Amino acid sequence: MSLRNVIVIGSGPAGLTAALYAARANLKPLVIEGLEAGGQLMMTTHVENFPGFTDGILGPDLMANMRKQAERFGAEMIRGNVTNVDLSGPPFSVTTEAGVETTRSLIIATGASAKLLGLPSERKLMGRGVSTCATCDGFFFRGKPIAVVGGGDSALEEATFLTRFASHVTVIHRRDSLRACKVMQDRAFAMDKISFEWDTEVLEVKEGDGGVVTGVALRHLKTGAEKVLPIDGLFVAIGHTPNTALFKGQLDADENGYLITTHGARTSIRGVFACGDVQDHYYRQAITAAGSGCMAAIEAERYLETIGV
Ligand code: NAP
Repeated sequence: MSLRNVIVIGSGPAGLTAALYAARANLKPLVIEGLEAGGQLMMTTHVENFPGFTDGILGPDLMANMRKQAERFGAEMIRGNVTNVDLSGPPFSVTTEAGVETTRSLIIATGASAKLLGLPSERKLMGRGVSTCATCDGFFFRGKPIAVVGGGDSALEEATFLTRFASHVTVIHRRDSLRACKVMQDRAFAMDKISFEWDTEVLEVKEGDGGVVTGVALRHLKTGAEKVLPIDGLFVAIGHTPNTALFKGQLDADENGYLITTHGARTSIRGVFACGDVQDHYYRQAITAAGSGCMAAIEAERYLETIGV
């Protein structure tokens, strides 16, 4: 099997932008798309904050466009999942269900997955009232009551942000005290538009005519009392998990498993780069992921030059 110049693992905005830049640099990248091809944007509907689309674009359409654009310049795509990565080289080897590929440089864009409650109704209504991103979807809930699940910094940050749009924000938390930092708590407690449902779990997301969210069924964990809270949107903010299991013990990561990068995209191994949410738990936007994918490809190109490719 021939030695590749660049393999990109992952096909969200970071991976596909890296592939586009690497393809245009004539490096003939191979993109291994992963099980969740297209990444988190495949779970959203309208994307209105990706520059260049004045009327917005559907998340899956944006990803299809990015894919086509990368392919147009010679990026090769394979579906399927990576089962093993060996970074003891270079060359580095990447194993998929289809076989083993070897490469001089590697771009990791495996992203992060929003943790979900695990309710069938939550998955079914994702993008139709259920969201994992307030920055992306808050705008669609102007003047409407919504709820946020979670008790950490993300939940309170989203709740506070969402007060700009929503008529009311209910924070649903499974305990009677918050995990979020004191400053965030104080800010949220001071807002008239935010109220809390303590010691409460979500049993089900209620669906109305037209397949949209109309409420959530809640249960108080101490009393067992159940009720329905009428809302138009549910934001699940119970954390993210970076998709880094393949690299554990091979690359430096922070205490939450996010890969540590320097110079924009360099990991702790020369020739291995990371971009997008797998190394960024802070911004987590399609446009920042795409920007970091561009940086990773430029870093890979310069690295390949230094080794005479
Ligand atoms: P987190 O700190 O892990 O908090 C997750 C929250 O969701 C917790 O309150 C947890 O409840 C709850 N939760 C987890 N699984 C649940 C489930 N299955 N059902 C119901 N509730 C569930 O995650 P995060 O808020 O995303 O923050 C992640 C990291 O990013 C943290 O280090 C945070 O400080 C940082 N961050 C910082 C900022 C900022 O500084 N501006 C903003 C966002 C995030 P329990 O409390 O009961 O465990």
